[in-house]
Amino acid sequence: MVRDVAYDCDVLVIGGGIVGLSTAYAITRAAPGTRVTVLEKEPGPARHQTGRNSGVIHSGIYYRPGSLKARYAVRGAAEMVKFCAEYGIAHEVTGKLIVATERDELPRLHALVQRGRENGIPVRELGPAQISEYEPEVRGLAAIHVGTTGICDYGAVAERLADASGAEVRYGAEVVRIDRRAALGVAVRTADGAVVRGKALVNCAGLQCDRVAMLAGDDPEMRIVPFRGEYFDLARPELVRGLVYPVPDPAFPFLGVHLT
Ligand SMILES: Cc1cc2nc3c(=O)[nH]c(=O)nc-3n(C[C@H](O)[C@H](O)[C@H](O)COP(=O)(O)OP(=O)(O)OC[C@H]3O[C@@H](n4cnc5c(N)ncnc54)[C@H](O)[C@@H]3O)c2cc1C
Repeated sequence: MVRDVAYDCDVLVIGGGIVGLSTAYAITRAAPGTRVTVLEKEPGPARHQTGRNSGVIHSGIYYRPGSLKARYAVRGAAEMVKFCAEYGIAHEVTGKLIVATERDELPRLHALVQRGRENGIPVRELGPAQISEYEPEVRGLAAIHVGTTGICDYGAVAERLADASGAEVRYGAEVVRIDRRAALGVAVRTADGAVVRGKALVNCAGLQCDRVAMLAGDDPEMRIVPFRGEYFDLARPELVRGLVYPVPDPAFPFLGVHLT
């Protein structure tokens, strides 16, 4: 129970990446009239992971059938395409090839076919000749084509979420202190000395969410492990038509060289 004190908003969201802005959007859609304030330390939205990712709308093929990740990824991919179409944001459902180039990858590729189908994703198995129907310059022993993978402009998605949410989004507002009291809600202080009070706080600070959790007095009970990656522009982009990925290495399933 939160006592009646002067609040600047009902819900405070820390972080103006896609998670913070879609949280604001979802709250104002689900409970119209809720006052949401988003505090983002950068001068605009999507300046960290959201605006620097590969721009892929993932199908959900890799996730265990029935898991929340699988359900949300499959539903989220469809909703992202719908959102982009509704708001005129650049996007395309390109499909994606996952290509096995070594014999020992074939059982894992086959397992992905099963997994994809159990997740309700359209998957087509391809032999070497069929691979070139999709990608004439790609060679492999076998591949699968995943129909629902696409690409979009996540920076534009974040901007649109910020506008459409109706939330107050404050840029240049780095949260440096959080005071959380039972029955009183939260008061946060930003680097410029402003204080913002809310009944509830949602931590959407991306790779700094552990620091924000500690500011609120929580033990995040997890560690953020950074990996460095590199992007290269193809000198001859005409060599590929769409997205081409290797079969994931089970030791590092989230890493690998891919063409996006
Ligand atoms: C290289 C790379 C490629 C990727 N490719 C894809 C892809 O193709 N498709 C896909 O779906 N996903 C991809 N991802 C994952 C995806 O980009 C992230 O899961 C997503 O962007 C996370 O969003 P977020 O809002 O949690 O974090 P972020 O976008 O990082 O936003 C967090 C925000 O919190 C703000 N913040 C932090 N601390 C504070 C504070 N104290 N006060 C105020 N603000 C604060 C930051 O400034 C930042 O803007 C990729 C990720 C990476 C790193």
